[in-house]
Amino acid sequence: MQFIQAKHHGGNENTPVTRLVIHATCPDTGYPSASRAGRAASTARYFQSTSRPTSAHYVCDVTATVQCLSEETIGYHAPPNAHSIGIEICADGGSKSSFDNPSHSYTREQWLSPQVWPAVERAAILARDICHRHHIPVRKLSTAQVKSGMSGICGHDNVSDAFHQSDHDDPGPYFPWDRFMAAITNTHPEELTMADVKELKASIVSAQQQLHHDVGVVQNQNGMLKKQIENLSWVKNPVTGKLWRTKDALWSIWYYILEVRTRLQKIENRLSDLERKVK
Ligand SMILES: [Zn+2]
Repeated sequence: MQFIQAKHHGGNENTPVTRLVIHATCPDTGYPSASRAGRAASTARYFQSTSRPTSAHYVCDVTATVQCLSEETIGYHAPPNAHSIGIEICADGGSKSSFDNPSHSYTREQWLSPQVWPAVERAAILARDICHRHHIPVRKLSTAQVKSGMSGICGHDNVSDAFHQSDHDDPGPYFPWDRFMAAITNTHPEELTMADVKELKASIVSAQQQLHHDVGVVQNQNGMLKKQIENLSWVKNPVTGKLWRTKDALWSIWYYILEVRTRLQKIENRLSDLERKVK
């Protein structure tokens, strides 16, 4: 994963992490440009150089995830920031005061479209890993639960509403939380894990060994068959006791038949001569 260090942060006392906050970057470029390939890197470079005190731990677009802060470092993404990790999904998802153009907010259909969903899925797979490593329960928190300090996953909007220390409302009202949470918990059948790859490799190795064994068996059988065919190819001449090739023996029988036919013809001719003389 590419790492582009963000300029602004709040020091290295982020652990223990209890909250995972989901954001939309909201570049106000609309669907689907806000999510296109390259947005994660360009957002990270913005965090690297901006004079505004803003940053996040990870940024996901449809083809890449870029890390901008170590998870032990406090990011400036959704105050109060300590003990939380922020994932930015490259998308337009805000709806009110925080963004220049609310009409750019993605609809549910746009979030779920092939032009955007891979970015959400990347964030979900990353969220699964983060929750596992930091023992964060995989559950979507309400604003009240965020306020009570419960551990789990929420949006920037929940943090804004709970603490009123920011006005951002991303990832917005149409973010498909149901599908996002399902993508975290349900290992998608199409998604290959290292265990799948190992299993596949083991089955290929065993198939190859089986094939190697079978080739050996066929080779042996071919060798024996060759001998048997060889044996069939020779017959013993009953007169001389010598071995003949079977095909030579067959031809000799054929020539003998022809010879016999000629001899019979000659005898028939002589009989005809004798018949004429007797008359
Ligand atoms: Zn945000």
